[in-house]
Amino acid sequence: MVVVMSTDADEAQIDAVVDRVNAAGGEAFVSRGVSRTIIGLVGDVEQFQSLNLRALPGVTEVLRVSVPYKLVSRQNHPRMSTVYVGGVPIGPDSFTLIAGPCAVETAEQTLAAAQMAKAAGAVLLRGGAFKPRTSPYAFQGLGRAGLEILAEVRAETGLPVVTEVVDAHDVELVASYADMLQVGTRNMANFALLQAVGEAGRPVLLKRGMSATVEEWLMAAEYVAQRGNLDIVLCERGIRTFETATRNTLDISAIPIAHGLSHLPVVVDPSHAGGRRDLVVPLSKAAIAAGADGIIVDVHPTPETALCDGPQALVNDDLRALAQAVRLLPPLLGRVPHLEDQPRSPKAGTAPAADPAAAPGSVPADATGAVGATAAGAGAPQLIPQ
Ligand code: PEP
Ligand code: MN
Repeated sequence: MVVVMSTDADEAQIDAVVDRVNAAGGEAFVSRGVSRTIIGLVGDVEQFQSLNLRALPGVTEVLRVSVPYKLVSRQNHPRMSTVYVGGVPIGPDSFTLIAGPCAVETAEQTLAAAQMAKAAGAVLLRGGAFKPRTSPYAFQGLGRAGLEILAEVRAETGLPVVTEVVDAHDVELVASYADMLQVGTRNMANFALLQAVGEAGRPVLLKRGMSATVEEWLMAAEYVAQRGNLDIVLCERGIRTFETATRNTLDISAIPIAHGLSHLPVVVDPSHAGGRRDLVVPLSKAAIAAGADGIIVDVHPTPETALCDGPQALVNDDLRALAQAVRLLPPLLGRVPHLEDQPRSPKAGTAPAADPAAAPGSVPADATGAVGATAAGAGAPQLIPQ
């Protein structure tokens, strides 16, 4: 922590700061500049905060240098973490596609969506049994029956399940079915829920609150970590801005910022960010380019009948375009896409070539062209039927 004195602070005022810090068991290092003096504090930052140094005469500013989140910070853990969900990695060496319906509606719809997701390369199935809806009149999810459907679809497809829990009282129930617990944007600051998922023994997908700063998001992650669970994946899903053309504004900067501040993996939800099917593929490409460790997208066999978020659900051509992008783009950035139709666990850092004819790891001259509509015809394997 650093205390900045005003330009006209006198020696007595400087001494008063030093004395207060020493009395609290800390050390104070005074450094006198040409125009002002600053005092560096070493010791227990939380205790220094309770000293109310800002209120002392001659003090202009008190700055915190170390971050307030300890367990999830990169300062204390420089190596990036990989989180495993049912054996599937999410981390710096891979790229993970999570897909599925926004909500579990019926067994048939969930299975169809899971098969679409898998054919597109998804290795984890998303789907809400408990839905946190803005309107109390909207479909709230099937609850326990939805969890049972997810478990059946997992058995049928082999895809581990990511599903949301909205109430601390349901954590045990949801954890008994899920491979990963999702905490949604509306619950990012529900501290009782964060603590409960921290004790549930399952990895956690922590969505950023729609009005939360990156620091608040990381503090929420700290709540989970503090209960002994460091298997946390951060999810940027768009924030509220003045813009009305999109449901939310995808904060692309949050990806490198969170990666710089925390060792936790970061995935992006382009479906809830844009709220529009036509934006999902462009936003996914942007997320991959900005360094995301994976994406989570909504798919639905018949979006026009979806009970939740149909306008953003992928189907047909858009899903095919996404499948191409998640296969071709991550290798350009040195990541191995951990996709359903690829061999598991290739050596970390050895990116397969985007074009099978090219040398391993080489970057096509026109990277944009590589993921365009013609890419499928350039020898890239077809992930799902055209
Ligand atoms: C969801 O993923 O189904 C969801 C409700 O997302 P968010 O919490 O980001 O709105
Ligand atoms: Mn949704």
